[in-house]
Amino acid sequence: MTLIDNLLTLYKVDRQVRSLRSRVESAEIYLKVQNRQMDAISVERTENELQLKQRRANIANIETETGSIDTRIDYLRQELKKAVNDKQYSALLAEVNTIKELRKAFEEEILVEMTFVEELELAAADISQRVEEREKVKQVAENELKVRKSEIAEQLVELESERSTAAAVIPEETLNEFDSLADDYDGEAMAAIEIIDLKRKEYSCTSCSLHLPLESITTMLGPKDIVVKCVSCDRILYLETESREAIMPAEK
Ligand SMILES: [Zn+2]
Repeated sequence: MTLIDNLLTLYKVDRQVRSLRSRVESAEIYLKVQNRQMDAISVERTENELQLKQRRANIANIETETGSIDTRIDYLRQELKKAVNDKQYSALLAEVNTIKELRKAFEEEILVEMTFVEELELAAADISQRVEEREKVKQVAENELKVRKSEIAEQLVELESERSTAAAVIPEETLNEFDSLADDYDGEAMAAIEIIDLKRKEYSCTSCSLHLPLESITTMLGPKDIVVKCVSCDRILYLETESREAIMPAEK
């Protein structure tokens, strides 16, 4: 086996490993999105609860105020009955009227606060519904991730061991180059050479479509086991068997 054949073996198994892992990764990303959305709803819920608490406390305070006003009015009415002269009576009546106005203002304030409470309660119901829905979606996402992980577990162990075997026969420097290309190109570390015109010796890289210098082809077909890379996209080049067979007689 030539170096390029070994690289091709590695390339194939490496892509299988990556595609298996990506099935789990996409499920992980999906679950993360659900968790983030859930967190956002939780923030909304906390804010809503805080506002409701404040508005209800406001109402309770105003009710305490109106309660003391009522007590005072009752007291003043009793005093009115006991009034001994007009001056005293007028003074008491004036106070009753003043605090009645105050009571009216408090009542209006309570109505405003109650409108806020109603709105906040509606929002709370909407939040609860969204939490419930999101919880269901999250559950599905968690199960899906579990299923995918267990589905690939066995196959992944097998493929990873195949990958290690394939990697073991490749010189370290070349392997490092391959790995970094595979990371950069999502597994697409290698590219086949396409014959554009055999007679005119025109070839291109199937990945980036760039025309390849003839030197790249002659080096590849030469006796030395050299890794040739595309001058544009940097991928490791290889020849499919039929391309090699088509070129070789032409090279003689
Ligand atoms: Zn290329």
